[in-house]
This record gives sequence, C-alpha cells and structure tokens, in this order.
Amino acid sequence: MKEKFLIKQPLYLIFSVVFISGVLMLLLYGTIKIEQSIEKKMIEISTNDVFTIVNNSVIQIEELLDKEQDYSSQILSNEILQKAIEKKLELLITENIAYTYLLYKDERGVFRFLADGSKKDKAFVNQKFDIDNLQWLDVYKTKESLQIENSYLQELSITHIAPVFRKGKVEMLLTVDFSIKKVRKINQILTMMKNGIITIVIIIILFLAILLFQTLRYLKMRKNAYVDKLTGVYNRNYLQDAQDFIHLQDYILATLDIDHFKAVNDTYGHDVGDKILTQVAECIRGSMRKHQDIAIRYGGEEFVLLIKRDPKETLEEINIVEYIFKAIQTKDFWIQKKESLAITVSIGVNLAPHQSRTFSEAFKLADIALFNAKSRGRNNIEIYDENNHNNNSTMMSINEIKEAIEENRLLCYYQKIVSNETLESSHYEALLRIRDKQGNIITPDRILPAIEGTFLLRNITKAVLEICYEKLLVDPDISINVNLNPTDIINPSIIEILTEYAQQEGIAKRLGLEIVETQDVVRTADGKENLLTLKKLGYKIYIDDFGSGYSNFIYLAQIQTDFIKIDGAIIKKILDDKISYLLVKSVVGFAKEAGIQVIAEFVSSEEIYQKVKELGIEYSQGYHFSIPSEL
Ligand code: GH3
Ligand code: MG
Ligand code: MG
Repeated sequence: MKEKFLIKQPLYLIFSVVFISGVLMLLLYGTIKIEQSIEKKMIEISTNDVFTIVNNSVIQIEELLDKEQDYSSQILSNEILQKAIEKKLELLITENIAYTYLLYKDERGVFRFLADGSKKDKAFVNQKFDIDNLQWLDVYKTKESLQIENSYLQELSITHIAPVFRKGKVEMLLTVDFSIKKVRKINQILTMMKNGIITIVIIIILFLAILLFQTLRYLKMRKNAYVDKLTGVYNRNYLQDAQDFIHLQDYILATLDIDHFKAVNDTYGHDVGDKILTQVAECIRGSMRKHQDIAIRYGGEEFVLLIKRDPKETLEEINIVEYIFKAIQTKDFWIQKKESLAITVSIGVNLAPHQSRTFSEAFKLADIALFNAKSRGRNNIEIYDENNHNNNSTMMSINEIKEAIEENRLLCYYQKIVSNETLESSHYEALLRIRDKQGNIITPDRILPAIEGTFLLRNITKAVLEICYEKLLVDPDISINVNLNPTDIINPSIIEILTEYAQQEGIAKRLGLEIVETQDVVRTADGKENLLTLKKLGYKIYIDDFGSGYSNFIYLAQIQTDFIKIDGAIIKKILDDKISYLLVKSVVGFAKEAGIQVIAEFVSSEEIYQKVKELGIEYSQGYHFSIPSEL
C-alpha cells in the first residue's frame, strides 16, 4: 500500500546513509592502517643500515681498547685514545645521523660522556648525561641494543643504543640519534585522504541527524493531521487521502451512528457527550482487529468502519461488525466515577463497496442502510440490500424533490381500510407519491431517505395535508388518514394548519392522523400537549407500525390514542410465526381493555384476513382488499 511505502521511504534513505558512512569509516580505518604500515616499513629499512654501521663502530672501538682493563678508566686517563675514539664517532655523522656519543655509568649510577662525535653542541669528557627514559637501563639487563622512537610531525627521530661488552658485562653505551624523513608525497596524499574522509563522515552524520529529525517530525505531523484529537481514531482528512489507496474490494464498509446522542448532550452536557464519544471510539477500536480494520470519525457522532475482508471466511467481517455493536450495547459508559449510562448505536453495512464506482457512492449505500436501521427503531444493524432499494441512482435527489413540490407533482395514492365485520369501507390511508418528469410514479422509500431531517419533510407533510383536505371537501362521504412525522407533532405551523382545518365542519372527524410511535414525541411536553389539543379538535390519533419500535403501552394511555395499526411486518408472519401471533394477541387484548380499536396492516390473503378477524381485530388494510391507487 502507498501509505506503507511513504513510511518506509525515509527509512530506506536513513539505511543507505548509515551504510555509506559505514563504508567511509572502513576506508578511513584502512588509510590509517596503510599509513602505519608504510611508516613501519620505512623505519625497518633505515634502522637496518644504522644497525650495521653502529655494530661496525663498536668493533672498531673495542679494537682500540685493552680488554684486561676497565674501558672507561682507560679512555678517561688517555687523551690520545679518547680523541681517536671521538674521530671514529665523528665519521658516523651524516645528514640523518646528527648525534653519536659514547657513555658510561659511574659508580653512583650517573651516565657520563666518554666521547662525543657530534658536530654541534659537543659535550666535554665526563660531562653528565641525563636520560629522559628509564628504558635506557634495560640494555644492562637484556644486553641487547635498544631503539627508542620519538615521532614528530614530518619526522621520526630514533635513539639507537648499542652496548659495548667487556668480559660479558656491559661497560659502555654507544648511542646514535638519527631521524627518518617520512616520504613527503605519500604522507601528504594519505593525510589529505584522511582529512577528506573525516569531513565527509562528519557531513553525512550531520545530514543523517537532520534527516532523522525531519522524518520524525513529518511522521508526527502526519499522524496528528490524520487523527481525531478527541477520540484518537482517524479523522475525515485521513479518509479523504486514504480513498486513493484503500482497495474497496478488500473491505466491507459500515457507518455507525450513536442513537439519541443529542439527548445525552442535552441531559448531561457537552463534556459528558465528549466523554461518551471517546469511550465509544475506544470500544470500537478494542473490538476491531489491529492493523486490519480501520475506524474513522466521520462526523460528530458518526463513524465509518472499514472491516478487512477475509478471502476465505466470508462471514468473518460481518461478525466483527456484530461484535462492535454488542460490545457497545453491553458496555457501561462512565459519566462520573459511580454513574454510568447505556448507549446503543445503529449500523448500516455495505457488504460490497467495491461494486460502487467511488468511495463516496459506497459510503452513501452504507448510509442508506444506516437510515433504515434508524427508522426500524435504532439499536440494530441493517445491511444494504439493493433489491430493497433497486439501486442508489433511483433514489431521488433533494433538488428533484424540491422541484416536484414546486411543480405540484406531489400526489397521494389511497388504500382502503376495511371493517373485518362488514368488509365495507369508505375509509382510506393516503400514501405519498411523486410523479417524476417522465410520468413515473415514485414511492416514499425513494423519497424520504434523501430528506430526513430537512425542512423538505415538513413541506411534504403540508402538501399532503392540503391534498387530503381538498379531497375531503370534494367528497363528503369518505375519511382519510394522513401520516405525520413525530417532528410534525411538535411543529407549530402544522398544528396551526390542523387547527384551521378543524374549523370546517366535519373535517377533523374524517381526517385521521397516523403517527409512528417513538419516544421522542412522548418525552417532550409539547408533543403530548399538542396531541391532546388535536384530539380536542376532533381528530382521531392512530399509532402507526405498532410493535416495531418501543411498543410502549403506557404511552398509548397517556395520549389517549384511538387506534393502533399493527406493523405489517408482524401481520405478514402471523400464520407461521408463533411469537408474532402471540404478540398480536397480546396487543389486541390490551387494546380491548383500553378501549382502543385495532387495524391490521399488510393483510395480503384470505388466510391472514381470517386469522386477524378471529383474533378480534376490527379493521384490515392490505392487498387482499385493495392496492393503493388514485381515487
Ligand atoms: P439518532 O438516534 O437519530 O442518531 O439521534 P441523535 O440525537 O444521535 O442524532 P442527531 O444527529 O440529531 O444529533 C447528533 C448530536 O451529536 C448533535 C450534536 O450536538 C452532537 N455532537 C456532534 N459532535 C459532537 C461532539 O464532538 N461532542 C459532543 N458532545 N456532541 C457532539
Ligand atoms: Mg445519532
Ligand atoms: Mg402509515
């Protein structure tokens, strides 16, 4: 992946720089070694010559002396002998040999001159000689000649000390100071090389340090730019950049949104909201597989999850989604030390994001599934199913809907609600339709998801109310139910319209209001109050899709509802599914007690009709009696 490459690229650079410095260090080491070995060779050659010369001189001096007597006494007492020896020493002086002298150690152990062959600074006989190195004394023990080296910048100076024996004892030292000039040219080249390499190494090390510093800074900066400060998961920037290199076929895509998060903020404050958000993100991360799955905070309280697809186990990735969902559902979210809160989320999943052309299209499909999960009552996972939605391109856009409202292309289809007893009816539910520019009829599933939470939803409600109101005026023998959104109930302009309609004789009685049961309406004082006002005006309240959401019986009593419409999804299963059957039965039992009438939706066959009738349900609506159509 490109991202990995990006991270590794500076590392490659660092590795190569380290490698080059290593090679240079070796070169430097090699140069120093070569220099040392040349020097050694030079010393070897020069000292060999000096050795021979000095040994010859020792022999010649010995020939001048009487072996039976002490050498130093002989020389000190015989000036002619002393001069002769000095002559011999003088012969040794050359360009490289500056000093030659013969020493003895007196009875107190002090070195003194016997003869000095040097041209400059000649010492006198018996002059004291200070040794600067205790090595000198070694000659008396080892009885072998010795060399002491003193290295100067361009020169090597060597003191060669040769013992002169009498009867196996060292009696005198013949000393020669000579210097070896290094081969200038070689030396210059080697020094240049050495200095050059040292400079390059220093520059490289500096460069390396800067590079390292910059790389670390860059990595840190990039990490900050891609990570959401509050939750620590990736942010939208990351998603934007990642779109180019994330291969959609490797992932399933899910959108996750916290349920009723606004209520958390409203009740406990924004800071607690932030805490919860952080904990939700932690929970998501903890439930994911490290290095495989990716969580991104997409918006306020919405997360995008990219779950890595396992090529073998096709179900694994959706299990991860389920696992995240469950983990959040069962976790305690801490508000304070001792107070915790339960949080639920809704998740929309797109199992085949690679089938979309772009990331944002794939995202949109997951979001449609999320919307459905929310509509189904929240706290669930919904998988995007293209059969359910045909495909995304048939979803109307906000602009198309706006245009349709402006051009009066909104209309209603009507479906009969029949009495199970008499099978007669003059009662209908109005169902929203839009006629598109080509004349096709569009159903709400392709309209409503696009405008959730926008003002257009309210405009549509108003338009539908007006259509139905006109219809009721034209045809005084029918009754019509309209669907209201929970938010419509707390909207003053809708209440105003309904209050105005109620002034017209007989309208309120014939205009039923169907409201999906949600907690939102009950919780607000306004919602409850408005429903009671509407009832006073003569409207009948129908609770729509009962059984799909909270199924809160207490709430029904509180708002004095007149009718319950049992969710079609439950009626559909009533013949085969025992739970559905029992659920309907208990709802009917309760309704009878409370004096509420019941309508079954989705009555699509004679068998279902018989069953709902047998259960004591008063009304039916469904394909068995009529399909929605124009009136
Ligand atoms: P639903 O179940 O439909 O998702 O309802 P909801 O209340 O969660 O959704 P809605 O979109 O109406 O509200 C989302 C809220 O999240 C609104 C906003 O105040 C809050 N929110 C967004 N970002 C942050 C944030 O960073 N911190 C906090 N504390 N709240 C945030
Ligand atoms: Mg939410
Ligand atoms: Mg309805």
